[in-house]
Amino acid sequence: MELEDEVLKRSYGICPAQLDGITEDGRPFYFRSRGSWSLRVGKPGWIPNVCAWPTFGIVIGYGDYEIEDPDTIDELVEEYLGPWRHVTWEETLFDQECLHCKTVFRSDASNICMDCLVKKVLRLE
Ligand SMILES: [Zn+2]
Repeated sequence: MELEDEVLKRSYGICPAQLDGITEDGRPFYFRSRGSWSLRVGKPGWIPNVCAWPTFGIVIGYGDYEIEDPDTIDELVEEYLGPWRHVTWEETLFDQECLHCKTVFRSDASNICMDCLVKKVLRLE
């Protein structure tokens, strides 16, 4: 096995294991497992990043057990949604308005801009 494959296969994390992706027909999905697992799907055109979704989407799969093995997660997603692919980090970026200073910036999750985050860490505010 190539190192690159190994890194990809270990990228879903544990507690929780999470995966954002997109189906062949453009629907974003979000898999999450912590104690139980769930698979949610959004609408075509939504950014493939659950933090950017306007609603929770639709739960199309659920189990009351934990799944962390990436191969098993990949197969499960395919079983529920058909062909799909991973998304790049760039594809997960969306406009956020900073909670503190109201500046609009691109981010994959945070709603505090880097300027305010640095000030907070350095306790300047
Ligand atoms: Zn800010």
